[in-house]
Amino acid sequence: MSDSQHGGHPHRSRRNERGPRSGGGRGNQRGGSRDGGRGGGGGGGRTSVGHSGHAEPLPTDLPATEFAAFDLAPRIEAAIAVAGYVTPSPIQAGMIPLVLDEKNVVGRAQTGTGKTAAFLVPLLALLGASEDEERIAKGEPEGPVRILVVAPTRELAIQIGKESEKLTRFVPVRTVCCYGGTPLDTQIRALKNASVVAGTPGRLLDLINRGALDLSHLDAIVLDEVDRMYDLGFREDVDRLLNASKSRQQTILTSATLNSDVEDLIAKHVGEHERVIIETNSLTVEAIDQTFYFVDPRRKPDLLFEVIKTLDPPKGIIFVRTRFSVDRLTYQLQQRGMGAELIHSGLPQPKRERILEMFREGKFPILVATDVASRGLDIDDITHVVNFDIPNSAEDYVHRVGRTARMGKEGAAVTLVTMDDGPYLTAIEKLINKEIRQEIWPGFEVKKPEPAGAKAKKKAARPPGVPPWANVARRRK
Ligand code: AMP
Repeated sequence: MSDSQHGGHPHRSRRNERGPRSGGGRGNQRGGSRDGGRGGGGGGGRTSVGHSGHAEPLPTDLPATEFAAFDLAPRIEAAIAVAGYVTPSPIQAGMIPLVLDEKNVVGRAQTGTGKTAAFLVPLLALLGASEDEERIAKGEPEGPVRILVVAPTRELAIQIGKESEKLTRFVPVRTVCCYGGTPLDTQIRALKNASVVAGTPGRLLDLINRGALDLSHLDAIVLDEVDRMYDLGFREDVDRLLNASKSRQQTILTSATLNSDVEDLIAKHVGEHERVIIETNSLTVEAIDQTFYFVDPRRKPDLLFEVIKTLDPPKGIIFVRTRFSVDRLTYQLQQRGMGAELIHSGLPQPKRERILEMFREGKFPILVATDVASRGLDIDDITHVVNFDIPNSAEDYVHRVGRTARMGKEGAAVTLVTMDDGPYLTAIEKLINKEIRQEIWPGFEVKKPEPAGAKAKKKAARPPGVPPWANVARRRK
């Protein structure tokens, strides 16, 4: 990581260096749907479009924060103070100065560490929208698109959109979220004067192909959780998006793991860059109390009900492998009087958002989910994560348990493990560089199976016609 300094000179913006970008393209396009309402802005599950871009008046008397050291634009700093951020997290301390210096940056950090703000804060500061007092007074949002954030899932795209809205409350910047399962025409209208776009690869490409998303004025592209995008089969889409945004000045990439696929992408599309690596051995947050129980596969639901009854989580997520099991377990939990709702990719998008919003607001305590909810689900006060099924990928474990103990809070993660799951457990422990504590739930003890082949050997050692218990009888003699 470079030791770029960030103090001592006036806050930077690309506008300072290049002047306002109102000349060409759609920089002047200020008609359209400026008054398009908040389109659900800030409104939790209704962020399919984003906020209108109107700036709130700047309050006086805001508390000082340690973000002042970065010399950000005052209106961005004010938004940080209102969000309640006081100290930059390690990934923020690493990335903010580099991004402000307009470097390409590759960041690896655990989930829930503030990585969204680590790239949004400096990019929004560079946008320079906060200096245009006249436009701020008029409340006019500015196009064209200058910051594009690509996310693997709709949920993460929505989270990024919300973080952007939080950080731009005092600047007239419109953020638009673009993802499938929502009407195209509303997004197309909103894009007309959006500066920040967060979306999923398929929908973004669709909008580019329709001529609705113009990337010719792009300052920066961010690929968030790129390893996950590859897991989900977006490799070609990511390539296309990077090719379609060649006029960008900066490329930022975050990933939980930097495997060879990600390194190939960095070599091909990012070029010279700086890295901010938050060490792997802190990949699962220290504050998560992690345990597992061995269990007979047929008894997993019963153990789950016991665990949930005993833990009585104020806000817990149960991760399950298949949609079918999600449906069934939720029903069974409800039958037992436990307040559970479900979320998986089979639900229509508006319903998914509604359920997440209700969960966020504490309207029910237990959310049963497939991995669709394991990334980008930013709910601060989740107390428990229960892996009904152990994830097949160690990285997914990190993302699932990372839903709890966010930003320094405490949390617990419980995993149910069958004898066949041993290799997955080992892979997880290797990745997190830590042994997960085994506990035994009385009444659910399982005997360790004999190593493969042991039974056959015993059988072979027994003379023909001698029954198995004869060995015991012989030993007793
Ligand atoms: P992320 O890892 O980006 O999903 O962020 C996790 C949560 O931490 C979000 O709710 C952020 O709003 C919050 N957050 C980000 N930066 C800070 C900070 N410096 N101090 C406190 N909370 C933060």
